[in-house]
Amino acid sequence: MDNFDVSSMGSALKDITSSQNTKRAEAAREKGWVAPESYDYAKYNAGPPLPNPSEEIPKEQLPEWAANAAKYEWKDEYGDVGPANPDLEEMLFRSEFINRTGLKISNLQNIEVIAESHERPKPVKTFDDAGIHPIVRENIRLCRYDLPTPIQAYAIPAVLTGHDLIAIAQTGSGKTAAFLIPVLSQLMGKAKKLAAPRPNLAEGYDPTVDAVRAEPLVLIVAPTRELATQLFDEARRLCYRSMLRPCVVYGGAPTRDQREELRRGCDILIGTPGRILDFMDKPHILSLRRVKYTIIDEADELLLADWESDFTKIMSGGDMNEDADHRYMMFSATFNRDCRQLARKYLAEDHVRVRIGRPGSTHINVDQNIVYAEPALKKQCLYDLLLAMPPSRTLIFVNSKTQADFLDDYLYNMGLPSTSIHADRTQREREDALRAFRTAKCPIMVATGVSARGLDIKNVMHVINFDLPSKTHGGIVEYVHRIGRTARIGNEGLATSFYNHDRDSDLAPDLVRLLIESKQAIPDFLESYKPADGEKLFQDDTDDEDEEGEIVEEDNSKGNWGGIPEPVDSRAPTVADYDF
Ligand code: AMP
Repeated sequence: MDNFDVSSMGSALKDITSSQNTKRAEAAREKGWVAPESYDYAKYNAGPPLPNPSEEIPKEQLPEWAANAAKYEWKDEYGDVGPANPDLEEMLFRSEFINRTGLKISNLQNIEVIAESHERPKPVKTFDDAGIHPIVRENIRLCRYDLPTPIQAYAIPAVLTGHDLIAIAQTGSGKTAAFLIPVLSQLMGKAKKLAAPRPNLAEGYDPTVDAVRAEPLVLIVAPTRELATQLFDEARRLCYRSMLRPCVVYGGAPTRDQREELRRGCDILIGTPGRILDFMDKPHILSLRRVKYTIIDEADELLLADWESDFTKIMSGGDMNEDADHRYMMFSATFNRDCRQLARKYLAEDHVRVRIGRPGSTHINVDQNIVYAEPALKKQCLYDLLLAMPPSRTLIFVNSKTQADFLDDYLYNMGLPSTSIHADRTQREREDALRAFRTAKCPIMVATGVSARGLDIKNVMHVINFDLPSKTHGGIVEYVHRIGRTARIGNEGLATSFYNHDRDSDLAPDLVRLLIESKQAIPDFLESYKPADGEKLFQDDTDDEDEEGEIVEEDNSKGNWGGIPEPVDSRAPTVADYDF
């Protein structure tokens, strides 16, 4: 072709694309989606200092690290309970972004609960009759938790009567409070006696003379940074007005800030394994010798990683633990072989084991749709789907980090307010993305499965599996985890998954069984994967290896634990009633 001007064609194409994008952006606005905001990835991540210091962002203008979030600071002059702090109370309990119980909470209360151990302390029906320390009781009220969820109904008495515990509980079932409430209750009255010395912050804090070594009473290990910070948030709420001081440590954020927090004293240490081990290697900063409770959250996730010897180190408190009466708790969505081995090794024989619903089963509150989509058309399907829905917080799962970046860019260019999170992002970016999603500045978030473990975000109305998890990467368990990000704690939610025979047929048999179990419609293209009549839907992998073969199974769904507890006419204990 003579005289063909390639550069002018390029710019003409650009013009067409940008005018199309403008139209699409207008369409998104018309549907009610807010405008996307760009994120400057270079801004907070400058490695070496900038040549011109005036261009550096002053520390006070940087967003706060989750680990530095405000908590109740105890002063020596306080009696048994500290005075209220209205500003902090507002922040901890009344932020509009805290998850609230939905109307479907009664569905959760009706979930089947099965005790599998000989030890079965009587489950509690209300928080008032549970023997909870009055400060914790008051904090539960401030959290607006009206009734214990099934896992709490069982875990609270089990821990209060001094048992180790294995709980196989659904995502969003109230697991965190299930262990924090009884553990904090037991420690609160005794904190002054048990806790390590700490600086009196009332008299000002000079790190050069006042800093102490952190000697926590409780150690909580979680597989991901996001889960660790959420546990920390719940601990900050439940420790309010008490002497117990929670801290969180996790990778990716500055060690220095976390160390400074530890040096002000730490009673409840929450963290991801790598960072906990780093601090354990510095015995002048952290010692686990006082630990009375070790809690492993999402144990099945942690055990996927190959860190047997590190695990042993953490579980045994670095060989320094002096407490013969050390209690262990394990929480897990599934109870696989590795978890069983871990339990045998560390948990006392009289541990309580409780299962909430079938391990790995899904919420009945999630509507699950499976949509057939050719790979080449998935992007367009996604765009159409988003525009067809009323704007709401939407979490989109993909199977790779590059795909996450790519899809985030695509949505952004289509005028949709998206952000993304995955393991190659810096911790600053991960926290910023989560904050933007939580506050609905970016109500659409694209995520890889790993980064979404344990995310508890208010009002995620729609989970979209842009890619379904493959059988070799978590399969149906991963699917359950993902869709569990919506319909948290009694809210309703929607999950839409793009399915394609070429890519996803390995998952199809399990997917169909799960859909049947959770009473969802089976699309025509999946009909052929239905199990034969009378075939068991899922093999239960929980019980097959019990050495004694003496498992007692009891279905309490209609009795003690399952049904909505009857109101109990009892006066809640007050601080004055309590024997400190
Ligand atoms: P988790 O399973 O620990 O991730 O908890 C899921 C959500 O349930 C969190 O947002 C908690 O704040 C909330 N939650 C925990 N216990 C209760 C309860 N008894 N009633 C209502 N909401 C609760």
